[in-house]
Amino acid sequence: MRNEPWLLKPQKTKEILQRYGIRMQKKFGQNFLIDSHVPEKIVAAADINGTDFVIEIGPGIGTLTQYLCYAAGSVAAIEIDRHLLPVLDETLADWENVEVISGDVMKLDLSALIARKTRELEESPGQEAGAADRPSASLQNDRAVSVKVVANLPYYITTPILMKLLEEELPIDSITVMIQKEVADRMQAAPGTSAYGALSLAVQYYAEPKLSAIVPPNCFVPRPNVDSAVIHLARRMPEERIHVQDSRKMFAIIRAAFSQRRKTLVNALRNAADLRKPDGTSYTREEAEQALMACGLPLTVRGEVLGLQEFARLSDTL
Ligand code: SAM
Repeated sequence: MRNEPWLLKPQKTKEILQRYGIRMQKKFGQNFLIDSHVPEKIVAAADINGTDFVIEIGPGIGTLTQYLCYAAGSVAAIEIDRHLLPVLDETLADWENVEVISGDVMKLDLSALIARKTRELEESPGQEAGAADRPSASLQNDRAVSVKVVANLPYYITTPILMKLLEEELPIDSITVMIQKEVADRMQAAPGTSAYGALSLAVQYYAEPKLSAIVPPNCFVPRPNVDSAVIHLARRMPEERIHVQDSRKMFAIIRAAFSQRRKTLVNALRNAADLRKPDGTSYTREEAEQALMACGLPLTVRGEVLGLQEFARLSDTL
């Protein structure tokens, strides 16, 4: 028999929170979903099918997790708050295709988790709970397992989590997350706009961001003070990214350009704390100016108007 998500049936969430005496932990960024349209939108944006392995960060009381279990082949849900584990035992009892992992996602070896889970799925395709009676599962069984991260992220740690997922070169196909709308805007921002910055360039280097939905505060308990957004990041494989000889150097240039936003790029490059020549010394004004001229850029240019391609070229030239 196929399980269906039930947690968001009227009154259920509040009843469970009361019954377990759950007190929301602000320090863990807990804003739980109470609107059933939102998990549906998140699952649709993530484009999950019955052979996918989904990693959820912060299942809370399992609201979104139920929808993920319904749609995916296998789910691993990583939760830092131990008080929620007994609740998850109850709310996820109907699903055999979920593993709840107690811990901090920032400390977990995600590479080992992905290797273990994809091996399990490849060895027994379609055997996960619920997968066999979903039409998409049988159609997709001949495909390799796709790994997707899906989460309503804790807002206090959104950027570190996403940068970990992107920079560690994990074999993840896509990341679909609910985050603060303002952060989603920064991820998608184009050069020359006020939202454009180091985060825009880092995300756009590793992935193709697409905003999927805006979610108002009344969809959560407690209500956050700001609007949220669902953003889908389709990972770019290394060969699909902007070509640059040394991406770490390019990101040092980018950090320098935006940490001193009001300065010209020449001054930012000269004063950058973590940008050094191979001999360990800083770039001189003349060297910075020569690099800009070689890239066809005006000497008064500020970093905030340069695109990824221009930063890559500058990095290769310096
Ligand atoms: N997924 C649930 C929902 O949508 O209702 C809860 C989302 S809530 C915004 C964020 C969740 O992430 C909380 O359950 C919180 O305890 C958990 N969390 C916070 N920091 C974490 C971390 N470093 N590692 C794993 N989980 C974390």
